[in-house]
Parts: sequence; structure tokens; C-alpha cells
Amino acid sequence: MTATGAVWRNWARTETARPIRVERPSSAGAVQRAVRAAAASGLPIKAAGAGHSFTGIAVAIGVLLELDDLSGLVAVDRDRRYATILAGTRLSDVSRLIAGHGLALQNLGDIDRQTIAGAISTGTHGTGIAYPGLAGRVRAVTVVTGDGSLRHISEEDSPELLPAIALGLGALGVIVDITIECVDAFVLRAVETPEPYAETVHAAEARARVSDHFEFYWFPHTDVALTKTNTRLPSTSRRAPLPRVRRWVDDDLMANGLYRAACATGAVVPVMVPPLNRAATRLTGSRRFTDHSHRVFTTPRSVRFAEMEYAVPVGELAAVLDEIRRLIDAEGWRISFPVEVRFAAEDDVWLSTASGRESAYIAVHRYYRDAHEDYFRAVGEIAGRHGGRPHWGKIHYLGAQEIRSLYPRFDEFLAVREQFDPQRLFANPYLDRVLGP
Ligand SMILES: Cc1cc2nc3c(=O)[nH]c(=O)nc-3n(C[C@H](O)[C@H](O)[C@H](O)COP(=O)(O)OP(=O)(O)OC[C@H]3O[C@@H](n4cnc5c(N)ncnc54)[C@H](O)[C@@H]3O)c2cc1C
Repeated sequence: MTATGAVWRNWARTETARPIRVERPSSAGAVQRAVRAAAASGLPIKAAGAGHSFTGIAVAIGVLLELDDLSGLVAVDRDRRYATILAGTRLSDVSRLIAGHGLALQNLGDIDRQTIAGAISTGTHGTGIAYPGLAGRVRAVTVVTGDGSLRHISEEDSPELLPAIALGLGALGVIVDITIECVDAFVLRAVETPEPYAETVHAAEARARVSDHFEFYWFPHTDVALTKTNTRLPSTSRRAPLPRVRRWVDDDLMANGLYRAACATGAVVPVMVPPLNRAATRLTGSRRFTDHSHRVFTTPRSVRFAEMEYAVPVGELAAVLDEIRRLIDAEGWRISFPVEVRFAAEDDVWLSTASGRESAYIAVHRYYRDAHEDYFRAVGEIAGRHGGRPHWGKIHYLGAQEIRSLYPRFDEFLAVREQFDPQRLFANPYLDRVLGP
């Protein structure tokens, strides 16, 4: 919770803001009043979610709206499997609330601390070549626009605007609630195992096509890929969750605790990074477990890092990875954090990184105490040469002109922005950069 006059910080500590005023509306009416009051005093206004974006997309320079009190389940349409959820609801709470109705989110990224509004607004996705990101499942949005009016956009009301508002970068208004199409609750069988890197890259597309959810991590300076393959099973399947102690040892102690120590060592003594990475891959054993979908998709992440992620056409994946590997070798960089590879289905959301094309996602990370800019800029250039689109919530260096060339519907999005926020009440420096003033 941020007090008025206090500093707001994002999770990765890459962005800070000192908003002039902080408000915590708990209803659509209160959001409308806050927007009108900001407009009357000439201040920009911005809703922040959980602050898990690595970019300055959530930075509020005037009024900061914190929506923790605008949280919960509004309605469930069991026949259509639609759940209407208040904007500030954390994804972990969404999963819990809809489970009571026999429903689950179709797919999730690797954590669930984000709010539903923040997640859809930046194109948050998981892995699965047949499954779109969260914004691709949005069926209605209620939003307060720049003049303080409340608009409901759905498959029935102004459906032509749905592909814009479903991933609006926070530029079109303050979202009050979201209707998302869910699926019947299901369990996932997870198989996680270290494998040779070269073969994994070679077979990645084929494996993504035969698996429900395939992804892998490659630790630079090693020849090992840690693969994760999740298979969807009916909710009645027998669960075999990781024992609590094993989960703690693997996810908290090994994946986070030991890893934090290794990253901290690598930050001070970079020469230690390659042996530490090799040790990390050796220590990571195989594991299999079966559990409720949201417990398998997500894992705790307590080691802070900075991240960049690009979506590229699936056929470009191997070439991009090869160039990144050669780049790291050529520059002599010591990179302690892994490169993560995931997949997503094509969708029709205008500013989705998977808009109009099936995508492979390549994410690079650096420990938050390590300098990331040279590495990220160089990887961004490689991905850019292969048609890459940067994740809106993760660090990148593109501006409106380059982004326009990546999205065929970019100008239509700007036209909706003109209609919803002609005074640029919801602008901030990041949006000025990526959308233009
Ligand atoms: C550890 C970690 C793991 C991550 N894993 C993944 C992953 O697996 N896949 C992936 O794709 N991304 C991932 N991300 C990125 C993250 O999902 C996105 O950056 C997401 O936007 C964060 O959601 P948030 O609630 O923190 O939103 P914030 O970062 O606070 O805000 C994001 C945007 O949403 C807008 N917004 C928030 N609420 C509203 C509202 N009510 N109305 C209008 N606009 C609003 C904000 O103004 C801002 O523009 C990860 C991030 C971290 C830190």
C-alpha cells in the first residue's frame, strides 16, 4: 500500500514513482469520481496493479489508483464458463474463487501475484502453442474512460472494441471489471527434467505441438536445458502433488534460496557464474507430479531480477537462440539467470504480442543487482531482426515508430485511444514512448 507522498516501487526495483495523490476506490462510482477529480485538477491518473511489470508502464505521475479494495468475483455464467472479476483481484484469488464454481483459468504464466487487470493490460501469457495469453480469453470489460463515463464493452455491446480494450496498456481508461472465459477445472501432470540443450532446441517446435504446455530454460555457459512438459487431465484424475517438504526444498530452498546466494556471488565475482550455472543444472533433478492446474503452472519467485521477453514467429526460434548464445560467448558476459522459451497460440487482440501469429517467446533475465542494459539491448536487436515483438510489461527499448511497424492494427488502437482518452489523462512517460503523445 502506497501512502500519499511516499515512493511507489515495482517488484523488480527498476521503476519508482512519487505520485501526488494516492486513492483506493472500492466501487465503479468511486473510480469515476477519482477520474473526474483528477481531470478537474489537471492531473494524470493511473491504476497500478501488483507492480509486477518491469517497464514503467504502471508509473503514476499524478494520481495513483490502488485497486486492492476493488477485488473479488462479481458473477459466474456456468453455461458459458464466463467469470466476471473485479479489476484488482490477484490471479491467485481468481483461481481460488472460480474453483468454487468448478472452473479454472485456461492457462497461466509462471506466477500468479499479478492482478487480473494488470495481467491482461500487458499481454501476460503462459506456455502452450494451442493456448493464447490471458487477454485472448477476455469476453467483456467495464471501463471508466477519460471523461469519467462508464463503458461496458462486450461481445454484445461495441464488440469491435473488444480486441483493443482486452489489452489496452492502461491507456484507454481504468478497468473496473473483466469477464474472462474459463474452462472446467482440470489438473496438470508435470514432468520436469534436464536434457541436452542442442537436441531440445532442435525438437522444441515439434514437442510444443504434441504437448499441451511445453517450455524450457537454458542456463548460459551450460549445455543443459531444463524442460517442463505439462499435460492436461480431467479434474477427476488422481492427484499426486509434490509433498509439501519437497516443494519447499525444490521451489523455496533450491530454486530461490540457493539460487539467490549463487546470483549474489556471481554479481560480486562474475568468473564464478559459469561453474555456478553448471552446478545449478546438475543439482536440478527430474520430478513428476500431478496437481490442480494453478498449482502446477505457477511457482514462487523470490529472487529479484530484471527481464526482457520477445515474441518471435515459431520458425525463428532456433536462429534467435543461436545468435543469443554466440552473443554471450563473444561478449564474454557472465549471465547467471536462464533464458526461458515458451509458446502461445495466435490471437486476434490488436496489441497482443501473439496477434495474428503463433509465437515462440524468448525471455532473458539478469539478477537485479547485475547491469542488464547492454545484454538486453543486444538481445532486443537480435529478436527485432527476426520480427520480434517485445512484451509490454518487460524491459525493452522500442518507441512508437518501431512498434507501429510490428502491429497492423496499431493506428486503429490509437484511434480508440483518441476516443477514450483525448486529454491523455491516463498517459505516462512509458506510454508517450510506445504510443506517442
Ligand atoms: C516474477 C515475475 C514473473 C512474471 N511472469 C510472467 C509470465 O509468466 N508471463 C508473462 O507474460 N508475464 C509475466 N510477468 C509480467 C507480468 O505478468 C506483467 O507485467 C503484468 O502486467 C503485471 O501485472 P500487475 O498486476 O503487477 O500490473 P502492473 O505492472 O501494476 O500494471 C501493468 C499495467 O496494467 C495497468 N493496469 C493495472 N490495473 C489496471 C486497471 N484497473 N485499469 C487499467 N489499467 C490497469 C497499469 O496501469 C499498467 O499499465 C512476470 C513478472 C514478474 C515480476
